[in-house]
Amino acid sequence: MRPTVLCFSGLDPSGGAGLQADIESIGQSGAHAAIACTALTIQNSQQVFGFEATSKELLLAQANAVVVDLPIKCVKSGMLGTTENIAALAQFLREHPDYQYVLDPVLVANSGGSLGDQATLVKAFVELIPLATVITPNTVELRALTGLDNIEDATQKLFDMGAQAILVKGGHEATPDHIHNQLFIKGELVAESTCPRLEGEYHGSGCSLASYIAGRLALGDDLKIAVQHAEVWLFDVLKQAEMPAPNGQKIPKRFKVEV
Ligand code: PLP
Repeated sequence: MRPTVLCFSGLDPSGGAGLQADIESIGQSGAHAAIACTALTIQNSQQVFGFEATSKELLLAQANAVVVDLPIKCVKSGMLGTTENIAALAQFLREHPDYQYVLDPVLVANSGGSLGDQATLVKAFVELIPLATVITPNTVELRALTGLDNIEDATQKLFDMGAQAILVKGGHEATPDHIHNQLFIKGELVAESTCPRLEGEYHGSGCSLASYIAGRLALGDDLKIAVQHAEVWLFDVLKQAEMPAPNGQKIPKRFKVEV
């Protein structure tokens, strides 16, 4: 049985983000994806219309059911929806200290729609931050989590809060022709990458990157190598992304389909 990543993530009916992004990305990384579903969202590639979060009891029951029969090596979380679900995940992680954990601190959809009450989610994330092998915020999430504008100050604040490693994704910065990512481990900048900025907006790019990293960690890569693999893979997947509707965001094509 392939090493397994257990994802705590929400269903996005468009198939671009959320648990479908996780399943496809982890499958492509070579690992197996299992899902504890945190919420059912109502959205397409253009807009979020609402969501209903899973109760913490149902969430933990899903996770505990697979713990006993799958070789889980890593946990990955995306949309968690409620502070109760965040606390439940923290409890689950404390019960399984041998699992690696990729925390993608999802606060809003790329289309701008709400995936939970941002102020309360930010406060609750404090409990998850020290439990994560790596946190993967974009710069909007980094600023929201810390209340600080400067990237170095904000990453330092997350380290002060107990973070072990942080991948800061630069896709939301005003760099018109490129995207710059930075990986910090224990307060030190250990890797940087720059890729050309592709045209358009993408639905599920963050989920895909975090999940692929989780898959590679589950397979035994060290963090720096896992991030490198994931960035190269994601760039390819975004290059072949498809536009579902004129006003939509592009949906990453995570499978190489030869026709
Ligand atoms: N999880 C769910 C269920 C979502 O709907 C979204 C965005 O729409 C995300 C996570 C985050 O998506 P992205 O990878 O675009 O940041």
